[in-house]
Amino acid sequence: MSTVENVIIIGSGPAGHTAAIYTARANLRPLMFEGFSTGGVPGGQLMITTEVENFPGFPTGISGPELMTALRTQSEKFGTRILTQDVESVDLSARPFKVVSDGQTYEAQALIIATGASARYIGIDSEKRLMNRGVSACATCDGALPVFRNKELVVVGGGDSAMEEASFLARFASKVTIVHRRAEFRASKIMVDRAHSNPKIAFELDAVVEEILGKEQVTGVRLKNVKTGKVWEKAVAGVFVAIGHSPNTSIFQGKVALDEKGYVQTRGKSTYTSVDGVFACGDVQDPTYRQAISAAGSGCQAAIDTERWLEAHAH
Ligand code: NAP
Repeated sequence: MSTVENVIIIGSGPAGHTAAIYTARANLRPLMFEGFSTGGVPGGQLMITTEVENFPGFPTGISGPELMTALRTQSEKFGTRILTQDVESVDLSARPFKVVSDGQTYEAQALIIATGASARYIGIDSEKRLMNRGVSACATCDGALPVFRNKELVVVGGGDSAMEEASFLARFASKVTIVHRRAEFRASKIMVDRAHSNPKIAFELDAVVEEILGKEQVTGVRLKNVKTGKVWEKAVAGVFVAIGHSPNTSIFQGKVALDEKGYVQTRGKSTYTSVDGVFACGDVQDPTYRQAISAAGSGCQAAIDTERWLEAHAH
């Protein structure tokens, strides 16, 4: 524990890597922790995204993993040191801040939180039991698996993710039913229209999944209409949960101010958090936009905020 880093970045999605590129180019020699416990692999949610069509600069699209590999290469090119380790805890009560990972303590003058968000689940026992046995929170990762091909599937949710996942799954499945707990959609009109016009996609509105059926593998769902109380079973081979995300802030609880949904609170238009010297960027502090490009943009802001703050406060 001899060296005190200028800045430690926790998280390796578009926000973390953009913060790394900028702080590295500012000669701050950032140390990044790329964890893997939330998504299984480092790189954040883009690692489980097939085609990214709306990241400026890629008119023909780019795959999520390709984009993240390019960002990682760019971070390292300018001197970012990357440790593929989850951070277990942080101590932000005094400077230098302490970051514990793999049983070792690292110290830094400044910290950038870029831990992103993870998929939410319905929260029923059968969902847990049948996870990866027909239950998935990522159509783009699992949708093309043989077990789902030419089968009937269910997508739960009424946001853009649900529409997008249903359209994607309809390429392989025989039929996809979107189960949404209300009759109005949170999704944009264009996404709903696209799903509506797909002959393979059907809707069950005002409906919830009460139970996922199957012993070893999903065989069906028990649905309930929340308006009429009607309960019925539907044979399906897969349940894709697309009901939004939660910020990855468990290690920051009680250490930095979070909002009521657990997102890190940032001050005004800046990336400043409630702790002087701790900055946050990307989905972990953004319940509104949640896009790769907006995450990257806020990563740039966090780097510039950090650089200026270090100039004024460090040493
Ligand atoms: P979201 O917009 O928060 O929508 C979540 C949906 O899940 C809502 O319809 C919600 O129902 C439903 N839901 C939440 N908890 C539930 C539960 N326990 N049981 C059943 N249903 C539940 O999340 P999202 O669709 O993941 O989208 C997140 C953001 O990413 C949005 O800003 C979206 O525009 C963006 N996005 C964009 C694209 C694109 O443009 N290509 C694609 C994907 C995502 P209620 O409506 O009743 O609350």
